[in-house]
Amino acid sequence: MPKSPENNSPSSHVTLTRPVGSVPCRGKVYNAFMDRNSSDPSPNDAKLLSMPVHEAPGVGRSRAQLLNKLGIDTVADLLFHFPRDYEDLTKLSKVCQLEQGKKVSVAGTIREVELREFGDGRNMLGVLLHDGVDYLRGVWFNQPFLKNRFRADQGCIFSGVPKKRGGRWEMSHPQFVFHDDEPQPEGMLPVYPLTEGLAQRPMRVMVAATVERFGSVLEEAIPDGLLERFELMAVEEALSVIHQPRDREQLVRARRRFVFQELFIMQLALARRRHMLAVENAPPLPISAKIRARILRLFPFDLTPFQVEVCEEIAADMAMDRPMNRLLQGDVGSGKTVVAAFAMLLCVAHGYQAAMMAPTEVLVRQHARSLRQLLHHSTVRIETMIGADTPSQRDALLKRIAAGEVDLLVGTQALAHAAESGKMDMQRLGLVIIDEQHKFGVRQRALLKQTGAAPHYLVMTATPIPRTMTMTLFGDLSVSQLQGAPTQRRIHTYKGTSETRSRWWEFFAKKLREGRQGYVIVPVVGGSETDGAVVVDGVRSLEEVIEELACQTLEEFRIDLMHGRMTSREKDEAMLRFSSGETQVLVATSIVEVGIDVPNATVMTIESSDRFGLAQLHQLRGRVGRGAHPGYVCVFSDDSVVTSERLDIFCRTSDGFVLAEEDFRLRGPGAMLGTKQHGLPPFRIASLLDDHQTLEEARSEAETLIQGDPDLKSTEHAKLARLMKAQYGESLDLGDVG
Ligand code: ADP
Ligand code: MG
Repeated sequence: MPKSPENNSPSSHVTLTRPVGSVPCRGKVYNAFMDRNSSDPSPNDAKLLSMPVHEAPGVGRSRAQLLNKLGIDTVADLLFHFPRDYEDLTKLSKVCQLEQGKKVSVAGTIREVELREFGDGRNMLGVLLHDGVDYLRGVWFNQPFLKNRFRADQGCIFSGVPKKRGGRWEMSHPQFVFHDDEPQPEGMLPVYPLTEGLAQRPMRVMVAATVERFGSVLEEAIPDGLLERFELMAVEEALSVIHQPRDREQLVRARRRFVFQELFIMQLALARRRHMLAVENAPPLPISAKIRARILRLFPFDLTPFQVEVCEEIAADMAMDRPMNRLLQGDVGSGKTVVAAFAMLLCVAHGYQAAMMAPTEVLVRQHARSLRQLLHHSTVRIETMIGADTPSQRDALLKRIAAGEVDLLVGTQALAHAAESGKMDMQRLGLVIIDEQHKFGVRQRALLKQTGAAPHYLVMTATPIPRTMTMTLFGDLSVSQLQGAPTQRRIHTYKGTSETRSRWWEFFAKKLREGRQGYVIVPVVGGSETDGAVVVDGVRSLEEVIEELACQTLEEFRIDLMHGRMTSREKDEAMLRFSSGETQVLVATSIVEVGIDVPNATVMTIESSDRFGLAQLHQLRGRVGRGAHPGYVCVFSDDSVVTSERLDIFCRTSDGFVLAEEDFRLRGPGAMLGTKQHGLPPFRIASLLDDHQTLEEARSEAETLIQGDPDLKSTEHAKLARLMKAQYGESLDLGDVG
């Protein structure tokens, strides 16, 4: 194998850096609007904003304590405590125009206030509002103290969701304002997130007074040129409007200003990160015709044109003395593993080491096995590292790694932990691959990195996440798409019902008799699998399912079990038995969700499928139909309407991208990624669902700005630099800016 270029010999020290491509934040401590934790000297006026919140007008010590519970500690926090909604009093309805379930506001005069006690401690307050023609009743349960707020003949507006009960209109727990004591009852009233003991009205008063007193102290962070070009409202005006909009149009403009700021600060951080990565040193690992031929000879099949294209893209990146930072997206079964193997072999061809991190032990073993198979004639040394290694195993492995006796290292997040603890010493690390990246939380998504030269870095994900999320989570990576699939993939998906259950199982058994294999997927509820909890409430447990299958439905077949509570050795053995064909049916939790590749498996039953997200179901389904035979999947669920709609979409659609968008729309970005540590910044106001256009604008503008002023040294950018550093400086390791 060719020797590596002398000038790039990396130093021996391996450190763990912040994950590339994720934007972890320190929760509410920072936001894209305030930099109160910045050590930079800020103008005196700005100091007013970091005063404790009890100094704000109308707050005082005891309310300050309640505000603290909402994460509002300073005057600035109160200014940026945005409303979660508005009562739109600009569009008042008459009672005769009410529609069942449609939120509105109704103005009228209070006619009657009645508190009814039920005798068991419960009570109901009814307040009758007359709009001049008809009546609307507001009802409040167990809030007797509200009684004293209402007086007959008072002018009042109710906002809420009307319901017709016994021929009369009612609103349960409506918001209310009185004509006579609100300054602007005809405008839009903010509705703030509250905490127990703090009502909407005092909150409005506190915020309004604080905006009035301190709003003018705010410095504009966005340079004039940008404000003009994007027609953004200036910060002082926007702040006052967002708390007290006159109308919807004005509100939309104010909101857009803050959304832009929030997304722009994030994109600036990512652009800065891209810039920093682009100037690091990495070992150039160019491909030659000879190396290419030697690698391709190892595969038992020809690469598809799509695979060739992506491999060449990667090879071109790796030839540079700058680190590759690339995200490879491709639907389940598109053949990403082969691409990863290609990159790793290119790396070892140069005498460098490659590390690959995968989310589960089972997957790590599978990767190691197929790599060993590919390379059984060669001298390439392959090792695995998993959490279940004994201390002596681990020590021995670390010694061999340090001695340069390992070429390919495949592991779970144990790799990242080992690196973090400073024990991993990979002298010649040239490439890091993260497989199924979407399965890693932010913390675990750490990468191995040397202090001397950075390795090339390839992230792979089978969840085709929507573009707004790609731009957020992987905003500093270049993106490759792996199209198509190596084999004509045919997966038929059915929605099972109790009537069709036995027919499905007959079909399942028929396929097994034909020599195929099958999965039965049972969800895990109450705790994650890695916690070892196979606790199931109301859902059929693994043991129940297996018992029933083994005794009745699939009596004649060899059935095995796999779940997260088993030791890694047990899991490994179960997986081996299944992939070798020794067992015919694998009953498993979602532990097999990603990466598992047993081409002979063609049938899958998914029980309680309502427990899985669409993207997850798509991953699960991707385990079958990987070989010459088509796959068949049947999903069963407890029959709720929502589930049923979701499952219809799932059965209709085989495009993972469409499903991901749908999942995103139905469950929001966080739930879709399926982990609390998903790495999305906690936006105060921006929404990845609604604000994609603003995100695109912010992204391209951020790129331009960083190109011109990478360290944000110009005075015009000082405030932006402070905000960016306060929020992302630490998590993204942004270096010296501003
Ligand atoms: P992914 O990781 O993208 O879900 P895999 O890399 O596991 O997909 O590939 C899916 C299946 O296709 C595997 O069984 C793999 O061996 C096979 N495969 C990959 N590339 C080719 C190819 N070029 N020709 C034939 N089969 C291939
Ligand atoms: Mg894979």
